[in-house]
Amino acid sequence: MLVGNGDGFVSCDCGRRHWGLFGAAGLLLSDPRRGVLLQHRAGWTHEGGSWALPGGAVQPDETSAQAAARETEEETAVPGEAFRVLAQRADEHGTWRYTTVLATVLGDAARPRVTNAESTALRWVSPADVADYPLHSGFAAAWPELRGQLDRRLVLLVDAASVVGPRAGDGTNDPAGAVARLRDRLAVLAGVGVVAGDLDLDGVAGAAHWTWWPHVVLVAGGPPGEAGAGIEPAAGIETVAGGDGGIGAAVRAARAAGPGDHLVVVTAADRRREPVAEEATAVVDPAVLRRLLDACTPV
Ligand SMILES: [Zn+2]
Repeated sequence: MLVGNGDGFVSCDCGRRHWGLFGAAGLLLSDPRRGVLLQHRAGWTHEGGSWALPGGAVQPDETSAQAAARETEEETAVPGEAFRVLAQRADEHGTWRYTTVLATVLGDAARPRVTNAESTALRWVSPADVADYPLHSGFAAAWPELRGQLDRRLVLLVDAASVVGPRAGDGTNDPAGAVARLRDRLAVLAGVGVVAGDLDLDGVAGAAHWTWWPHVVLVAGGPPGEAGAGIEPAAGIETVAGGDGGIGAAVRAARAAGPGDHLVVVTAADRRREPVAEEATAVVDPAVLRRLLDACTPV
């Protein structure tokens, strides 16, 4: 265990004491074939003997996701390269916060084993069986909500022309350049994450205490003269040509690639066609996306 200056107990507004001066975080690691990774907590820990997630105190120089990944590697030997982080849920107490970071395994690199004294066992458990375990009280309370989001991505499908406009909305008369700048700003947003409530996704992708790191699909190009043909992909950003089918074809392809994903389509009202409404989880106005981009990347 790394002993840092985030380690210590907090007397919380809720009347209890919690571990982590800057809050605590845990990793809910899911493997669609094996289940979710649970940790049997050592007897000396808080609520010792119960089952919960690998995790621990957040250090002052860390995000919750970084803390969850570090603690998981310390306790299970599963490195950060073995999974993809999809979302996080914050249990906010006012003076303290517990953040559950949801991740899906990549390939076969996740081979957990007990590596320190905080756990007595690690076990892949089918989601259907989790509630049968004697769970840590905080995890037990959060589990029903967490279970509904396992292995689901937030896919943000952006109709480039509707955001930058057919004539390069930034006034430079450089449509391809405008879409490339949009792509780069989306890459920043994908790294920072999106609060579900800020995209009006409270009902479909968790409430305001959920943050998602979206997979972005940028639909650029299409009818002759439209903005953005030939845009190269960037880190975390998939680019697809609009083509003759427009965004309808891109939306159908995204839905086929991830039937359980939260597929959020950003396009203007006059560009919404049948497949968009049928396949999308939500359709949001370009103005909503522009506000999010302005908040995390200076224009
Ligand atoms: Zn509390």
